[in-house]
Amino acid sequence: MGLLEKFVTEESIFTKERDALRSSYLPERLLHRDEQLDRIAGILSSAVRGAAPSNVIFYGKTGTGKTASARFMQKEMLSTTTPVPVKYIYINCEITDTPYGVMQNICSSVLEGSKQTPPPSSGLSIEKLYEILVGFLKENRHILIVVLDEVDRLVEKNGNDILYPLSRINEDLVKGSSVSLIAIANDLHFTERLDARVLSSFSGERILFPPYTSTELKNILRDRAKLAFKEGAVSEGIISLCATLGAQEHGDARRVLDLLRVAGEIADRSGEKIIREEHVYKAKQTIESDCISEAIRTLPHQSKIVMLAILLRCCGTLQTTTGELYATYKALCNHTGLTPLTQRRVTDLITDLEGLGLIQTNVRSMGRGGRTRFMHACIPFEDALSVIEEDDLFKNLKIRKLFQAKLF
Ligand code: ADP
Ligand code: MG
Repeated sequence: MGLLEKFVTEESIFTKERDALRSSYLPERLLHRDEQLDRIAGILSSAVRGAAPSNVIFYGKTGTGKTASARFMQKEMLSTTTPVPVKYIYINCEITDTPYGVMQNICSSVLEGSKQTPPPSSGLSIEKLYEILVGFLKENRHILIVVLDEVDRLVEKNGNDILYPLSRINEDLVKGSSVSLIAIANDLHFTERLDARVLSSFSGERILFPPYTSTELKNILRDRAKLAFKEGAVSEGIISLCATLGAQEHGDARRVLDLLRVAGEIADRSGEKIIREEHVYKAKQTIESDCISEAIRTLPHQSKIVMLAILLRCCGTLQTTTGELYATYKALCNHTGLTPLTQRRVTDLITDLEGLGLIQTNVRSMGRGGRTRFMHACIPFEDALSVIEEDDLFKNLKIRKLFQAKLF
């Protein structure tokens, strides 16, 4: 331990390995995923024998160990000797979310270490990139395993544009080289969005990652807590509490790891040597309010204006109707210089906001066959407003002044 490092950890309940609680940390072993890992190993074992593995889809809600399993297999593959060189390429499609980006990423990884220069990050056609990849694989025997993590995102944005050529590429290759896909989706209905042609290339290989039970979450947490906290800082009771709260939500391992980490940070800041239940409850609150802020922050501009219009109309607990809301929405568009959408489109955005849990709506019949949709915000007015105000679009709007002057 370095001279200074000692002081950093001396007073803390965390060890030097507090990153073990982060979701990017890859643990030594994955618990309760033997069935999934065995199936994946079975599929990828073809590569070890020099043949192309089948394409496979991993699906399950967030925090069920899909990314961890893909990275775990990457480690296993790298430590195995194979008759044909195997390249395992991991792409997160939330970051690389265009067909060009995906293709460029694959080409660059494949050409790495060869004499050929990698293609530029823009400017060529997809067809050209495809040609480069096929050309290289024809001359150099390689088995590629391409992980497309968060693939839902790619398909949502680009349809089957990139999955189709990738899933068919082996037809253009010569013996010895191949490309296999591991597509990872959080959306359980992901396959419904695939073309029949693409789907058939996955030949039924789908691996489900079910939510963890509270006992499973407890075991996962215990492993990580041992690394991240000093002895005695976390009791079995605290692990159980975190696991129970996590299982009530949806068995998401990432959420429980976050919960324990934030609880640890809260205990640490108040100078305590052990985590107590109140720290866990406080952590839960902090995480929930961070999630809401993040949901608002990442809304597209039009949805932000609709959200703002609802906040201003409701101002706390009041309700508003679609008609009233639309008038306020149009006024806000006017002030910000955005072109207003039609009422129909705004209604779609309202439905999206409800899906995110930011607002609630209900439809009431108003006599003579008329039906009106009422809505109200489900989040604290002040918190939401201050997140919206961060956006440059609203910087000059002086929302609060207009609001006080009852201009809305
Ligand atoms: P997903 O990709 O399904 O959303 P991740 O694989 O990112 O979920 O898992 C979230 C976090 O939980 C990561 O820190 C991961 O290491 C941990 N984790 C998930 N499943 C397990 C498991 N079976 N054993 C140990 N840690 C796990
Ligand atoms: Mg993931």
